[in-house]
Amino acid sequence: MSKIKDVRLTHRRYYYKKPFHITNSISSYADNVEVEITTDSGIKAIGEASPSMRVCGENKDTILTFENRLKEIMVDKDITRYLVIFRELNRFISSSSLKAAVEFAILDAFSMEMGIEVYRFLGGDKTEIETDKTVSIGSIEERVKEAVEIKKSGFNIIKIKVGENLEEDIESIEEIYRKTKGVKYIVDANEGYSPKEALYFARKLYTKGIDIAVYEQPVKRYDIEGLRFVRFNSPYPVAGDESARTAVDVLNLIKKEAVDFVNIKIMKSGFASALSIIELCNSAGVDLMIGCMGESTTGIYQSVSLACGRGCFRFCDLDSHLLLKDQQTDRFVQKKNIISITL
Ligand code: MN
Repeated sequence: MSKIKDVRLTHRRYYYKKPFHITNSISSYADNVEVEITTDSGIKAIGEASPSMRVCGENKDTILTFENRLKEIMVDKDITRYLVIFRELNRFISSSSLKAAVEFAILDAFSMEMGIEVYRFLGGDKTEIETDKTVSIGSIEERVKEAVEIKKSGFNIIKIKVGENLEEDIESIEEIYRKTKGVKYIVDANEGYSPKEALYFARKLYTKGIDIAVYEQPVKRYDIEGLRFVRFNSPYPVAGDESARTAVDVLNLIKKEAVDFVNIKIMKSGFASALSIIELCNSAGVDLMIGCMGESTTGIYQSVSLACGRGCFRFCDLDSHLLLKDQQTDRFVQKKNIISITL
């Protein structure tokens, strides 16, 4: 049995290779916070929080203020009785991304103590997953060029950001489809459309013979009626992302029959609560995908552990580390679109 000796938070800034443009937001860098837990048996476990102001109303500064409180909660606690620590974290830590990082680091330390990896502790369903890669908003030419490059570099699923200009979005997707036939598409409007626009977009593309595997967050996060309207009237499966932050959000979406998919991101819910969301969706027959914020490889490893451990995600959108500069995949191996958890 080992006890937590210390917990430390460190701010780390990662720059995007090119500014990441989605509906109403352009980012040049991700301000993440690394969590390091050490135990008296010499274990060192690392987690990473990648906070989103747009989605969850938090940033690195709001997170860093929790360092002393974390020490109070965690130091001297038995790592093998992790639920006791999780319960305390839920009482005192309001930041979902910090919770994700700390909970993961605790499970990582626990797993090391047991001599296994986190993905095995979670069930060990798979040892590898396939990820998509994302085309952010830009001119039609830029978007087509990016999509073609993504396909060429070995990806079979392309995620396309839309939501700022309806007609240009439609034209971009048509053009991308013409140049990258044979791949699957996930389209994400990040709340950019009205329900009517969302339907216009989907029907227009459908009549051109273009299939979209997932139509993510077409309308505003609180417009659950609108989401439901798009779900029942568009030919494509609809996913909730911004509408699905917590387990309570997801329960409500299920009750309202508003979505075909839920996009789980541990930065929105925390790590432990993501497990509840998985169970909710599995029970209700709602499909799952897993996404990310601006995680480096350190943070992506957390979601890869969840995705491999549980094996329940129809689509994995774990590509933020591919969009950031200076990333080293030292915790997993990535060959083109395939991420393997075993080194
Ligand atoms: Mn999304």
